[in-house]
Amino acid sequence: MKRYIIIGNGVAAAGCIEGIRSVDAEGSITVISAENHPVYCRPLISYYLEQKTDLKRMQYRADSFYADHHVNLVCGRSAAEIRAEEKEIVLDNGDSFSYDALCCCTGSSPFVPPMTGLDTVENKFSFMTIDDTLALEQVITPDSRVLIIGAGLIGLKCAEGLHGRVKSITVCDLAPRVLSSILDDKCAAMMQKHLEANGISFLLGTSAKEFSGNHAVMQNGAEVDFDVLVLAVGVRANTALVKNAGGAGGRGIAVSDACETSLPDIYAAGDCTEYHDISSDTVKVMALMPNAYMQGHTAGVNMAGGSAVFDNAIPMNSIGFFGLHCHTAGSQPEGCEMYEEADEQHIKRLFIKDDRLTGFMLIGQMHRTGIYTALIRSQTPLSSVDFARLKIEPQLAAMGRAYRDKVLKGAV
Ligand SMILES: Cc1cc2nc3c(=O)[nH]c(=O)nc-3n(C[C@H](O)[C@H](O)[C@H](O)COP(=O)(O)OP(=O)(O)OC[C@H]3O[C@@H](n4cnc5c(N)ncnc54)[C@H](O)[C@@H]3O)c2cc1C
Repeated sequence: MKRYIIIGNGVAAAGCIEGIRSVDAEGSITVISAENHPVYCRPLISYYLEQKTDLKRMQYRADSFYADHHVNLVCGRSAAEIRAEEKEIVLDNGDSFSYDALCCCTGSSPFVPPMTGLDTVENKFSFMTIDDTLALEQVITPDSRVLIIGAGLIGLKCAEGLHGRVKSITVCDLAPRVLSSILDDKCAAMMQKHLEANGISFLLGTSAKEFSGNHAVMQNGAEVDFDVLVLAVGVRANTALVKNAGGAGGRGIAVSDACETSLPDIYAAGDCTEYHDISSDTVKVMALMPNAYMQGHTAGVNMAGGSAVFDNAIPMNSIGFFGLHCHTAGSQPEGCEMYEEADEQHIKRLFIKDDRLTGFMLIGQMHRTGIYTALIRSQTPLSSVDFARLKIEPQLAAMGRAYRDKVLKGAV
């Protein structure tokens, strides 16, 4: 009977469990989880703050998931070391487990740059986990003034979650625009205007230089008094376990399309990894939930002796704030052309290079965007579809018979 170990208990781990069981019904699976919760849908933590969901509905799988898949779940414990030669892992309490195949699904951790006086701030939080959210909820009151450092996805989702439950929310970021890693200036300006219309204040192009208790001094000299501080500057992939065992990697653990690391019988999946982005032909960390699941599933199948690859990853984000949604995918390589439609409420930007759709940014326009994503993933030559129609209105009819036959097996 094969012994499988999975470190971490997020979406990648759930995919890994399901991948293993799709091939091997008998082997033993042990999951080591630092968090004391069954696998949950991390993006829902802001909806919990907003009181639109509860802990039960945030679960990613049913209560019976671990029992149904015959998983030994070790909660509230961290793996401290992988001994690759001995094929065992050691936990923070000294317990050890031997494995035949191991998958590292350790996700990422908040990154907090050194900031003078941060230790003098009493109420400071990250916003990554259920426990962060429960702790934050304990301290907020309708009179709280909240300062969020970081206008990326996590900081803004936290702002939306807190909206209506606190007196004021100020978000600052060193970048000159909101969501700087996924939106360009024009799209970011539309989103910022919408957030401001909903009562969120911004200090952009500057960040906190110094704290003294509940008082922050910004790099541009502005001063902000607050009651609660949220640190959402960025995240770093949790690579140490595999790297310390001799595994290769840069910002993330390096994995192949089969989710193998450079170490024998050790796989990795999810936010802790770096892998090939087909839209830009580069290797990067793509911290995204669908990718985490698909990588985990791929790893699981391969660990159990099956054969699977995840070889069409692209960065993509579909996210909304106060009812205004944006959807981005792929990349904007140097020298690409741009097709644009824009009015007061919508922006559509499609990026095209070498007869391929390489990426898009859409704000306020969510209709059948999966067709654009499919064009990027499949790297379909635009000359083989009716792109003149597609760029105005994504529709299957314009994809051409050959594409529909190949991808949809003639279903449409
Ligand atoms: C507020 C927020 C909003 C988001 N919104 C979106 C979105 O809209 N769309 C999207 O695609 N993605 C979104 N994401 C990102 C998404 O949640 C992640 O991509 C996904 O959860 C990654 O899954 P994972 O299993 O790789 O890692 P994680 O879910 O981070 O799980 C890793 C687990 O491993 C545990 N762990 C780490 N080290 C050890 C160790 N040594 N021993 C034992 N356990 C360990 C961690 O505690 C953690 O529980 C969002 C994230 C946040 C925080």
